[in-house]
Amino acid sequence: MGTIKCIGILTSGGDAPGMNAAIRAVTRSAIYNGLQVKGIYRGYKGLLTGEIKEFKSQNVSNIIQLGGTILKTARCKEFTTPEGRQIAYDNMKKEGIDALVIIGGDGSLTGARIFAQEFDVPCIGLPGTIDNDLFGTDTTIGYDTALNTILDAVDKIRDTATSHERLFFVEVMGRDAGFLALNGAIAAGAEAAIIPEISTEVDQLEELIKNGFRKSKNSSIVLVAESPITGGAMHYAERVKNEYPGYDVRVTILGHLQRGGSPTAHDRILASRLGAAAIDAIMEGQRNVMIGIDHDEIVYVPFTKAIKNDKPIKKELINVLRELSI
Ligand code: ADP
Repeated sequence: MGTIKCIGILTSGGDAPGMNAAIRAVTRSAIYNGLQVKGIYRGYKGLLTGEIKEFKSQNVSNIIQLGGTILKTARCKEFTTPEGRQIAYDNMKKEGIDALVIIGGDGSLTGARIFAQEFDVPCIGLPGTIDNDLFGTDTTIGYDTALNTILDAVDKIRDTATSHERLFFVEVMGRDAGFLALNGAIAAGAEAAIIPEISTEVDQLEELIKNGFRKSKNSSIVLVAESPITGGAMHYAERVKNEYPGYDVRVTILGHLQRGGSPTAHDRILASRLGAAAIDAIMEGQRNVMIGIDHDEIVYVPFTKAIKNDKPIKKELINVLRELSI
């Protein structure tokens, strides 16, 4: 491997608040260490179309507080084919880019792993997803902000739920992971969370009814992870209407508002630390790892581990929610 003089940076897949803070950190840290930086637009798509621009320190001024990503993000089907990746590699070489920093989720890091293997290109991943579903890092960039957005929304729903004495199913994101639903429920003081991790083991609605949910309360809020495994909030509302017609049921789907907003202090600090560590990793000759934070220490997690392992939900959290919702 030759010396690395120029790095390319891109954001890919689902956007997450804090991606801009990560772009800023990677860019500034690279320049600080004498590297040239090129911003690649619209994820892997930009590598294929050549939508690439040199980034100086001022290109990332005033973005730490912004949600979304100034580099834009996209999903790129061609990059999943060997022909597409060959074009990406050729463009990368044409631009003089020696290594890539990829900010994204599970899919984006899978693409990075394949690309790195095929072309012997150093790739460093940063966990950028609101779902918090990457193994090897305590949290992912965007997760804390999304959690706080959910909290704000559920606090408001509670006002109307209490006034009308209703049962609300609030659907939150998390296709394969219940972190947002479970921790959102704990933080909002909701009655329960329906999450994919335990959906196949137990009928969570049966459990709720059996445990006498609502008890003496005049309203109830249940957070449901939007997932084909849970079936989503509508599914549970329909079931309650059919099986327990005594309840006055409503559904709120929070949807894309969970992806937006100014990143929290936690996400800005996380993104800044991970971004700076990505450049340290490149300078140390690391390659094909995701940068994570584990017990407040920077860690390098091989792509295969970060992507493949299911990040477990702590049983303790499930118990806390159950105990505190009596
Ligand atoms: P996320 O990174 O948020 O999980 P996606 O799953 O949509 O988002 O992946 C983002 C992009 O990563 C895809 O559009 C594609 O370009 C690339 N990608 C995903 N999976 C693969 C794969 N198996 N091989 C190559 N590229 C992939």
